[in-house]
Amino acid sequence: MRAYEVSFAHRASLLDDADLAAVAELIRSNDPLSGGHRREAFEAAFSAYTGTRHALSVTSGTVALEIAIRLLGLEPGDEVIVTPQTYHATIQALLEQRARVVFCDVDPRSLNMDPVALESLIGPRTRAVVLVHYGGMPADMDRIVELARGHGAVVIEDCAHALGASYRGRRPGSLGDIGCFSFFATKNITTLGQGGMLTFDRDDWAERVRQVRANEVDGRFVPLDVTGDPAPASLPWMKFHGGAYQRACVEVFRSGTNANMPEAAAGVGLSQLAKLGSLIERRRQIAARLDAVVERISRVRPHSAPPDVEHAHHLYTFFVDAGGGARDQILRELDSRGVEVQLRYFPLHLRPEWRRQGHGPGECPVAEDSWFSRHVNLPCHPGLSDDQVDHLARALEESLTAVLADARHDEIDDKPREDHGSLRR
Ligand SMILES: *Cc1c(COP(=O)(O)O)cnc(C)c1O
Repeated sequence: MRAYEVSFAHRASLLDDADLAAVAELIRSNDPLSGGHRREAFEAAFSAYTGTRHALSVTSGTVALEIAIRLLGLEPGDEVIVTPQTYHATIQALLEQRARVVFCDVDPRSLNMDPVALESLIGPRTRAVVLVHYGGMPADMDRIVELARGHGAVVIEDCAHALGASYRGRRPGSLGDIGCFSFFATKNITTLGQGGMLTFDRDDWAERVRQVRANEVDGRFVPLDVTGDPAPASLPWMKFHGGAYQRACVEVFRSGTNANMPEAAAGVGLSQLAKLGSLIERRRQIAARLDAVVERISRVRPHSAPPDVEHAHHLYTFFVDAGGGARDQILRELDSRGVEVQLRYFPLHLRPEWRRQGHGPGECPVAEDSWFSRHVNLPCHPGLSDDQVDHLARALEESLTAVLADARHDEIDDKPREDHGSLRR
């Protein structure tokens, strides 16, 4: 594998002595290793941070999203409107549901779900809207939530990038109905590699999530009736716990899953959350440095947040509006200068699993245009040294100048696409 001077991180948070102390303290104690007070403390700190009544931890962001989808209780004929411009885990649980999935195009400046496109798609069958705060920039939630409320639809926010962001004084995870966070190693904070959180206000959902994540099935006691006769209680191998199991078993209606966050992860989650402000500050410094380069050069534009929105800069994104393959040339120039580029994300409606369900090209023209010819994602994480940030800013400036000063790109196509007329259902 090639070694880049500046690369994407396999660890995007910083782990330090405070995290180490949290793990050491657990190991030296005689505390339970799961279901203990560290998880409660992490959840309490998280719900205080997001401003939601409940914060319930699980083992990954993917599991949080799966559980959120389960809470909807979807029926055949229901519709769920989703963004195509996200990681596949945002919507993969919908593949197993019989509800109809409708892809809603994104705004060309934010790559977040476009409320104008949403308005044309939402209707009486819409049960939920599933969106991401792309790269850590909150979506236009006031308009989206208002549209969803008007149709009785639940809004699920994938906040995997958005921890540390804010929207009109509020935190992602409290803007819609259910927030789903990830603490995977590459996210804004990590719970030792894997972890997730659900945030919401509803008490009935909290009860259900506590059951599901603890492998408690939804079921009822029925007589243990294998042979036609109740099982004899005297068989020595029938050492089930609880007297009821002697002559009865549980008939499962809906299964649970085991998704309890371990105490070591929760302890580190607490110490990581305490550092969130400084981790995000470092991301902002790097992003501001790169934005300054992009703003000096014409036919490229930054991924900037409106004044009342704070970007968490999970991803650093900029756009090339020069057409004619200029974006791909810029990618090659960056690569040749030792900068790793990973484009995020291939539009989900074009992936084979969704094409098999009838989705395909033309459904979300803005997302497609952005992926195939405009957007670029650069490394931006607290693990980058000052020297690496210098290298990155220099390589960016040189790459943009090399390509955009070139006369071959005079077919200027300066404006991001704003036409949603070609959206089809
Ligand atoms: C990382 C990520 C997830 C999945 O989280 P895991 O904890 O890795 O399962 C979901 N959505 C988005 C947008 C992500 O970036």
